[in-house]
Amino acid sequence: MPHEIAPRSGVAFTLDRGQRLTIIDPQGEQVADLLAFNRADVREVISAGRTFDYASKIFLTAGDPLYSNRSNIMLDIVEDSVGRHDFLLTPCSKDTFRIIYGDSDPHQGCFGNLAQALAPYAIEEDMIPAAFNCFMNVQVDGTSGAISVDPPLSKAGDRIVFEARMDLIIGLTACSALQSNNGSFKPIHWQVD
Ligand SMILES: [Zn+2]
Repeated sequence: MPHEIAPRSGVAFTLDRGQRLTIIDPQGEQVADLLAFNRADVREVISAGRTFDYASKIFLTAGDPLYSNRSNIMLDIVEDSVGRHDFLLTPCSKDTFRIIYGDSDPHQGCFGNLAQALAPYAIEEDMIPAAFNCFMNVQVDGTSGAISVDPPLSKAGDRIVFEARMDLIIGLTACSALQSNNGSFKPIHWQVD
């Protein structure tokens, strides 16, 4: 049975080298922000910039590795039933909701949920990079660079599977931003095999 992350919340857990992490969108159109830290030294984190550089593209799917800030492969994407995810944007946060949505009493967002879940592993807010945003559908205009956050392409039961290439600490959320999730907050399922 997979674990469930309640809407607008997050978890952290360990993943051993060689283990597979499956992230499932049980209802469809729900984003899950994924972070990975080297368990032996949490200053080593997943890096969008290095991953894009070595992949020579910004849209990643099965067969693509996710690199760390030290250019080591942390995770491989081994299965992907959706084919569209985002690795450009930072986890939604109090400031996201204040600046983009104009909320006066903002939710702590994925950023706050991740910081809370990762605190027991001695990971602090300032150590949180841009997350790999599973199922997030960010469209990019190739000429102007303009971006838009569109509804996820994921349908109920869609999944993405990662294999760990080192011993990791994982942070994972059910995203809290209305725009990313087509206007409603849903759970995320995950399991380790
Ligand atoms: Zn979020």
